Amino acid sequence: MSFEFIKKLPTPDQIREEFPVPDAMQALKKKRDQAISDVFTGRSDKFLVIIGPCSADNEDAVCEYVSRLAKVNEKVNDKLILIPRVYTNKPRTTGDGYKGIVHQPDPEKGTDFLKGIIAMRKMQLRVMAESELTAADEMLYPENWGYVSDILSYVAIGARSVEDQLHRLTASGFDVAAGMKNPTSGDFSVMLNSVYAAQHPHHFIYRNYEVDTNGNPLTHVILRGAVSKHGNTVQNYHYEDIMRLSERYDSMHLKNPAVIIDANHSNSSKQYKQQVRIVQEVMHNRIVSPEIRSLVKGVMVESYLEEGAQQIGDHIYGKSITDPCLGWEDTEKLIDTIAEMNH
Ligand code: PEP
Ligand code: MN
Repeated sequence: MSFEFIKKLPTPDQIREEFPVPDAMQALKKKRDQAISDVFTGRSDKFLVIIGPCSADNEDAVCEYVSRLAKVNEKVNDKLILIPRVYTNKPRTTGDGYKGIVHQPDPEKGTDFLKGIIAMRKMQLRVMAESELTAADEMLYPENWGYVSDILSYVAIGARSVEDQLHRLTASGFDVAAGMKNPTSGDFSVMLNSVYAAQHPHHFIYRNYEVDTNGNPLTHVILRGAVSKHGNTVQNYHYEDIMRLSERYDSMHLKNPAVIIDANHSNSSKQYKQQVRIVQEVMHNRIVSPEIRSLVKGVMVESYLEEGAQQIGDHIYGKSITDPCLGWEDTEKLIDTIAEMNH
């Protein structure tokens, strides 16, 4: 046998029972899920800001970050919904490198999945309790959904997963907003077909069960820029890109057409400071074009306590060990600007 089955891990039900969501937090999640749903269905004019580190590698630093975000939230919550990025599973282009807290609860040590699942759950619960903000994560491994389905308010399917059938079918059963990223090639059809798939009901095998899903009407797209066949980055946050997307949306008759603009990744070419300019351009386009205003429902920004990125082992508290992030001062200013520009 080429698989070695090392040990059985607790099921999502067991983990949820052992580390439950307190009643007050369940009510908070319900309220936040509804507020986010209202943005996608057009009932609310609030603008979504999905913001936080590329990877949530350190519980204390992440909790300090979200506590700061909670203070900013008090100033802007009449105009914005802040959703912290608490990303616990990282896709890797070649498979090498740090794969997130579930694989490595300590980035300097080897894999420990039992510890990792618990570390993920505990961090997400602490984020909720300390910030009263419910978070976003990428569902890189669809079978992990049950470990956090009672916690997250937003889920992304990443650029390297969006063409995969199991990701699409699993997203059709999420009861929160799901963002389908454009694939790294930038192909809009792949991304929109993924939205179509997730908005419809499915019947499939999931975690040893035969399951039915209803289809998720809150599935939408995330534009994160692309890489051409020659290896250069191709941005897709400009006016023309969004207008083209709008036409494609119209022709596919999807529910709740919406886009989130990811300002980092191939849109910034990981020049993290460019996120400020990119977000401002997007906000400006929303002001000049009613069509763009109704389609662009939010932005995604990679931000942490310290700006840039470090190598694992450098031990700088609150600095990214994956993609480079905007620092706290710029983050606070940017959130204020987004609120001012959402009028
Ligand atoms: C991310 O959001 O950190 C990420 C890995 O995104 P993408 O799937 O767009 O590369
Ligand atoms: Mn990233």
